[in-house]
Amino acid sequence: MPHIEEIADKVYRLETPIPGMTTVFAVYLIKESEEILIEPGPAAAVPSIRDGMSHLGMKNLAYIIPTHIHVDHAGGTGALAQLFPQAKVLVHPSGLKHAVDPSRLIESTKNVFGPDFEASLGSILPVPESQIKVPEDGEVISVNSRELQIIYTPGHAPHHIAIFDHTVKGIFCGEALGLPGEGAEPFPLPAVAPPSFDQELYLETMEKLRKLDSQMLFYSHGGIGREPDKLISIAEENTRALGDIILNALKEGEAAEAISRRVGDHVASRFGLELSEFDLAMTVAGYTIYFTKKGLI
Ligand SMILES: [Zn+2]
Repeated sequence: MPHIEEIADKVYRLETPIPGMTTVFAVYLIKESEEILIEPGPAAAVPSIRDGMSHLGMKNLAYIIPTHIHVDHAGGTGALAQLFPQAKVLVHPSGLKHAVDPSRLIESTKNVFGPDFEASLGSILPVPESQIKVPEDGEVISVNSRELQIIYTPGHAPHHIAIFDHTVKGIFCGEALGLPGEGAEPFPLPAVAPPSFDQELYLETMEKLRKLDSQMLFYSHGGIGREPDKLISIAEENTRALGDIILNALKEGEAAEAISRRVGDHVASRFGLELSEFDLAMTVAGYTIYFTKKGLI
């Protein structure tokens, strides 16, 4: 039985470990008369989701909402859409083509996790276009008296959305508000993924989400954030700080490995956290591509 708990009114958090990733992944289920799933995770998580749903007496999803089309958040979307053919899958307009034809997602997953990623993460299946609904920025999905507002939140990826649940005043933020870390005291670091990370948009998104006046943040790679305003400020500060360290080092002509060590040392001394080489390399690569596109180096 996967670890599952009710973290707000009718909102359940299901933890599923992702092979090859250090942090746990959270899938969220909302049990209304029409059932909602936020963050499918990779296809390898589908059996846990089915166990969790039957434990909660949930039978049929009406909405499947990945925050963005990366394998750890959305790899299982096609498999779930097949299991629940009446379900609508909500994706950002820029994510539509990747959901319908996941060839680029499969390619980038191979680059990051190796050619045999399916053995651990499961297969990435296409989502039938007939099941996809592309919401507008700010569009509200009403289920009973619950209102879920879809917010475009680019920066981590151009096709990122967040979902604001007006009933519990919580934001399902995906990676839009950083990665909170595993400790008791969260200190969100920027979630940087090459090649589409955009620091400027990422910071704008954080301000956009701050204005919602939420009371809870439902992280995908982590737990629940209880002080959104403070956490958003820390995420912004860390996004700027890591960006400055990397940009200065790039201007000095430092090699990627040396910059990774610099970022690792900063995070270790500031937060006592040991980042993996993989995470450091992703962060440095993501910022480097961004600064190059901006013409800053
Ligand atoms: Zn991502």
